[in-house]
Amino acid sequence: GRLPARDTIQQMLQDAYTRFRNGDEGRVADYIPVLASVPRDLFAVCLAGIDGELYAVGDAKHVFTIQSVSKPFVFALVCQAVGLEQARCKLGVNATGMPFDSVIALELSRERLTNPMVNAGAIATTSLVPGETADRKWQFILDGLSRFAGRQLSINEEAYRSEAATNLRNRGIAKLLEGYQRLYFDGLESTDVYTRQCSINITAQDLSVMSATLASGGVNPITGERVVDAVVSKRVLAVLATAGLYELSGEWLFETGLPGKSGVSGGLITVVPGKGGLATFAPPLDEAGNSVRGLQVTRYLSERLALSLFASK
Ligand code: GLN
Repeated sequence: GRLPARDTIQQMLQDAYTRFRNGDEGRVADYIPVLASVPRDLFAVCLAGIDGELYAVGDAKHVFTIQSVSKPFVFALVCQAVGLEQARCKLGVNATGMPFDSVIALELSRERLTNPMVNAGAIATTSLVPGETADRKWQFILDGLSRFAGRQLSINEEAYRSEAATNLRNRGIAKLLEGYQRLYFDGLESTDVYTRQCSINITAQDLSVMSATLASGGVNPITGERVVDAVVSKRVLAVLATAGLYELSGEWLFETGLPGKSGVSGGLITVVPGKGGLATFAPPLDEAGNSVRGLQVTRYLSERLALSLFASK
């Protein structure tokens, strides 16, 4: 099937936006100091179709840091570079059912594997990025994410410095992984590249295009460039379905029937395979670190646009 007609979609995005824009639940993340100063009322709802149609309501051009929404894209680039089997056995693909920065999840795994959508697995993923030096790895990531977005992206230096000065927990996770030989590059350098990756400037409109690139099997619908193979894209979405929203991933799949990925800056992508990519931005988060209004809008749109992958018709 295809997405509904253009004006139906535009109308529904507008509806969803109006319905949830005044919601005031949730807390803006402050464990990374710069995130605390982001205005809580920012709100954007965007959709990109796999044929390149773009829809946007609200603060679609507002620039924020990508944070954990970078994880599926870096994972896809790594799968493309090292192969799906290598990626699976070195990083793991099982949901942890635990918070994104969990140390216990790693400790409880006999194999010392988590998955690329939580910090431990994501730092391991970054360590597997091609390149002999941290700088090469960073350039590979920035270049790859730019191809997913269809424009040259850049880093937010202030956000990077703010997180780099306070990310002792992530450094600890990297050291543990290193001790278990589950890291494939220096621990502190891998954490630093991961922190840079999380500090990339992005907009909700960009995220919709990146999400649509996964929806289309790896081809950016705006530039027409193939960023990753369809087999890679398909497998990345499978991991997202079980682990994209941390410990609430099951609830999310139950409600929307779609793979998605959230981040602590308030971004949320939802991929509708073969149709398009939805992206929302709203900074206040629930207890798990997922954007409250993002969840509300996406649940609503999934229902109204009949997007669940599990529907029989
Ligand atoms: N940079 C953040 C961290 O590692 C990203 C976490 C997130 O968005 N869930 O803590």
